[in-house]
Amino acid sequence: MTQQLIAALREQEEIFTEIRHQIHSHPEVGFEEHRTSDLVARLLEEWGYQVHRGLAGTGVVGTLKVGDGQRSLGIRADMDALPMQEASGKPWASEIPGRFHGCGHDGHTTILLCAAQYLAKTRQFNGTLNLIFQPAEELLYGGKVMVEDGLFDLFPCDRIYGLHNMPGGKLNHFYFRDGPMMASADTLHIEVTGVGGHGAMPEYCVDATLVACHIATALQTIVSRNITPFEPVVVTVGSIQAGEAPNIINEKALMKLSVRTLNESVRETVLQRIQEIAGTMAASFNASASVSHVNGCPVLVNDPQANDFAREAASDLFGAERVEPGKPFMGSEDFAFMLKHHPQGSYFVVGAGDEADRCMVHNPGYDFNDSTIIPAAALWCELTQRYLR
Ligand SMILES: [Zn+2]
Ligand SMILES: [Zn+2]
Repeated sequence: MTQQLIAALREQEEIFTEIRHQIHSHPEVGFEEHRTSDLVARLLEEWGYQVHRGLAGTGVVGTLKVGDGQRSLGIRADMDALPMQEASGKPWASEIPGRFHGCGHDGHTTILLCAAQYLAKTRQFNGTLNLIFQPAEELLYGGKVMVEDGLFDLFPCDRIYGLHNMPGGKLNHFYFRDGPMMASADTLHIEVTGVGGHGAMPEYCVDATLVACHIATALQTIVSRNITPFEPVVVTVGSIQAGEAPNIINEKALMKLSVRTLNESVRETVLQRIQEIAGTMAASFNASASVSHVNGCPVLVNDPQANDFAREAASDLFGAERVEPGKPFMGSEDFAFMLKHHPQGSYFVVGAGDEADRCMVHNPGYDFNDSTIIPAAALWCELTQRYLR
């Protein structure tokens, strides 16, 4: 049965590789995925799915009901590209300057389309299948907006799954991790206000730049002194903007921070300490600091049962040797919003190959590995046919 499935998908490999290249050469960034979502919606309609458009703007959900089964399954793919220049040199490279499918979401979309076509043609399941194509994963809130727009009210799912390709992972091996797998991500801005003035008369001023530097240093004590060494945390001050000229003491400084954790209560502690340190450190210099939370994405937490179900399907399809334990990442993934709203689900990784010269995602030389399309699509088909028996 499983070998038949893979053989049937292989017959479509060229067509879907071509679709992947088409999407790749026309990358669109978060909430601007018009062309991509048109293509997705058109193909799903052609294959007999009920298509709902407009969730989170460019999001698409394709629903296929077979038989009278009461169970429902959701599978999600992301569609957006990155605002960066491609340097892969591939014939299908981006035709749009400054836009690049540098994370392989072109591939994730193609994998799910490939599975969609097979499942609609064969109809070997009993229940409701919801295929969720989301915008703006790279902004870390496309998934959030879909949930807020009523994704799971309109399309109830008993279980949900998502995947990501990963260079450095063994080709077409599947990596699963129970519990926390991807970090929370919070972006914060700290605006420091002092008193501006002449660079030669500091006694009349409060130097916002200097205060920002002290805050940046003090923030590094959160990881080393407030959090147990057994909990991974990153506090990055990625930007300090202050000043124009050597002879002016600045009144304002703007700091931009990225915070990552693998535990929601640790996350709360870290965010709280940033508030305290910024406020009290600024006050100690007679300056003030206001901290604003620009956006945040929760920790991605996998349900062990949903993982076991997928591990078993992968193992039956490809052999137990291709099912691997996954490591946690300090990178983030906004499928976390869907899993937070709907904890019965999991997110796993498909290895994209571990050759030394294979570029990591977000590297300008990266390109999605097309040889993962069929195995990953086979796993979506197998999971659907098993879960919706
Ligand atoms: Zn990415
Ligand atoms: Zn990605």
